[in-house]
Amino acid sequence: MSYEMIRDKMICVICGKNQAVDHGMCEECIKENIKVETISQVNLAFCPKCGSIRIGKKWYKNDYAGRLMPVLMDELKCTDRDAILTGNPKSIVMNDQDKTISFEVSIDRKYIDSLNEKISVPYSVSYISCPTCNKFTGSYYEAMIQLRTVSTEYDDSLNNVLDSIGNIMEKRKRIDAASFISKVEKKAEGIDIYLGKKNDGDMLSSFVMDHFFSNIIVTKTLAGVKDGRKFYRYTYSLRILDAGEGSLISVDHKNYILTAVRNKHIDVIDVDTERKIRINRNTFFMKDGRIVTKEPQMRKFIVISRSGDESQLMDVQNFRIITIRGKPEGDEVNLFIYKGKYFL
Ligand SMILES: [Zn+2]
Ligand SMILES: [Zn+2]
Repeated sequence: MSYEMIRDKMICVICGKNQAVDHGMCEECIKENIKVETISQVNLAFCPKCGSIRIGKKWYKNDYAGRLMPVLMDELKCTDRDAILTGNPKSIVMNDQDKTISFEVSIDRKYIDSLNEKISVPYSVSYISCPTCNKFTGSYYEAMIQLRTVSTEYDDSLNNVLDSIGNIMEKRKRIDAASFISKVEKKAEGIDIYLGKKNDGDMLSSFVMDHFFSNIIVTKTLAGVKDGRKFYRYTYSLRILDAGEGSLISVDHKNYILTAVRNKHIDVIDVDTERKIRINRNTFFMKDGRIVTKEPQMRKFIVISRSGDESQLMDVQNFRIITIRGKPEGDEVNLFIYKGKYFL
């Protein structure tokens, strides 16, 4: 007895009436069994200014149905694994009222005639200014980075931070069109950088904290309502130490000479005790860290002689000779000066 003969005699296990054609089921029951279900909703990003839609990394103004179709098809699954679904891009209709996209799907499967079904997939919308519109208006932003200084005034060192941020964003934009700087404002107190994407605010502020001696305060403000949901804008206020080696600073109302700046600590000399200590950034910012003067408290000296653990040095400005403890290396040395005291 051949396989064909067995199959011919089999009755459908579902209805128990018709002849089974595949997997013990008749044509009718196979059709019955095919259900197309939606997995989840699709998230669409529209430009609020020109109406372009973002699909993947690209923006489309017109004729995007063909690009949207595979995105919609990804949200569908079929109860019959042998069925092949094909969406018809020309049938796509967006129903703004109930926030669904409907379209026709043809279902092809061996042993049955192809079926046609109308499918609805729910969607949500977010609004992101497209790069084209952004270039012209520069007004859209989700986050702002405020670069500020400890001195509370603009300092050229902020430009280095801005350059680094610019380089990072150039690379980000190539991967994601929504990653852009929409505006840069230079002010008397610092630089404001407006960002198209909130995540970039997180990423860039972490970058600044990892590379500069700085402090951060993040605030969010309600900017409006989009699709019934509250929309916030985030401000990352970064305060960066704008003082270098030799500057006089104060922490907790005590004065120190700054000898080294790292991202998470500074090295200083206590001007009263002449001791070298390390201050971490949390302490600095929590204990009212300030800059007394950025002017380096340093002068150049020439080493005249060394004896025991002392050295004689000459001030190159006034030719006065001083004796200090310690043996400087080389013929010239910069000493930190504070109220007539010298620190090697
Ligand atoms: Zn049947
Ligand atoms: Zn646009």
